[in-house]
Amino acid sequence: MAAAAESNYELTRERNNLIMALKVGIVSLGCAKNLVDSEIMLGRLSEEGCEIVADASQADYVVVNTCGFIGPAKEESIDAILEMAELKAGGRCRGLIVTGCLVQRYAEELFQELPEVDGFLGTNELDKITAVIGQIEAGHRVKVVGDSFYDYDQPVPRVLTTGSHLAYLKIAEGCSHSCAFCVIPQIRGRFRSRSPEAIVREARNLREAGVQELVLIAQDTTAYGRDLKHTSLKDLLKELLPVGFPWIRLLYTYPTSLADEALELLGREQSLVKYVDLPLQHVAKPVVRAMGRPGDYKATLGLISKIRTQVPQAFIRSSFIVGFPGETEEDFQELLRFLDEARLNHVGIFQYSPEEGSRAAAMEPQVPDEVKQERYEKAMAVQQRISRELNAELVGEEIDVIIDGLSEQSELVLLGRHYGQAPEVDGVVYLGMPENPPQVGDIVRVRILEAHEYDLVGEVVEQ
Ligand code: SF4
Repeated sequence: MAAAAESNYELTRERNNLIMALKVGIVSLGCAKNLVDSEIMLGRLSEEGCEIVADASQADYVVVNTCGFIGPAKEESIDAILEMAELKAGGRCRGLIVTGCLVQRYAEELFQELPEVDGFLGTNELDKITAVIGQIEAGHRVKVVGDSFYDYDQPVPRVLTTGSHLAYLKIAEGCSHSCAFCVIPQIRGRFRSRSPEAIVREARNLREAGVQELVLIAQDTTAYGRDLKHTSLKDLLKELLPVGFPWIRLLYTYPTSLADEALELLGREQSLVKYVDLPLQHVAKPVVRAMGRPGDYKATLGLISKIRTQVPQAFIRSSFIVGFPGETEEDFQELLRFLDEARLNHVGIFQYSPEEGSRAAAMEPQVPDEVKQERYEKAMAVQQRISRELNAELVGEEIDVIIDGLSEQSELVLLGRHYGQAPEVDGVVYLGMPENPPQVGDIVRVRILEAHEYDLVGEVVEQ
């Protein structure tokens, strides 16, 4: 439908009457931070009268919100774009729009190489999604990618895609760390905290809409407030507590910034979920230093022990990179020993992916792919054993579980998560349907009956 290849329009809201009553579907890839951006765009579209559809094959317009973090994520994004482009050839779809990190990173190349895409929108242009569809309806092909940061403090009518009981809340955007492997600061810009007022206002709206579990996210949540005056993560948490969420979960903390005062609050406040998400990336000192990150084996183990002392019931998640340039067999063995000693509940292992524009991409020696794969498999095997053992310790215990819905396998099985399981990234708890089925978002007492590597099976003992 694109009549002309044009770019960087001066987009106005007047054109939006063209898009009323269109059906729009979205494919959101990557992390929860990207998902919030998808929900903001859906909110804008819905505000303008578009109907949001879950099934992309029923949509007039399909938006693919991409991830451009590492190689496999980029491949997944391109595959999703090509798959959605097929809907234009054989289905109802008359416009395909690509947004997100991949566009922010490779706008020009994508514009040239993907003629089947009608519109490209960078990460700072979320509120231009409606105008872009208006332009495409008028016969143009559009690319809008700017450097002025999107204002996350403005009131936004988000459409939640996580169910009405669960919502992510972005407390900051961007990152001012300079980890050698990461291009996020180039894509998303320097770290900017949202104002406490805007965050609390959005949290109140979410609570009024029925959200039970609020998940606070940012590239580094522990840096919150550093760029503002007189506020910190602890101050923000104190303002969020009275809003009344049964569960508030904090993700993406940074090792050296997880301050005692925040941990103390986590240990003390009942509604702050006893869950610590601490991406560590590595523990062998030469690798950690080459990554441009703080800590080493001993310091990191000390931090884990401090968390366990201050928040004894804490479930801890982390992620590590294997095959970083220069990682020796000895460094890798140190990581394996750490996994065994730290016994973290949930661990993600990633193979290092050289990203153009990152310092690490030019480092020598790069680790051969087959060695990365081998190390990945070994680290996964160690952690799977630990996770299985830790899960087995839960059998017979009673624990609070939030109900997420029905299992896909059977209408007689409920799906929930105990407080030590974050949505999407950790396992789940399967529950037999009790006589009085709980509602989605209810927090019920569950006895754990069976444990597997990732998932648990339990029964509701109290509602
Ligand atoms: S903390 Fe490091 S890895 Fe995380 S987003 Fe910032 S630069 Fe990237």
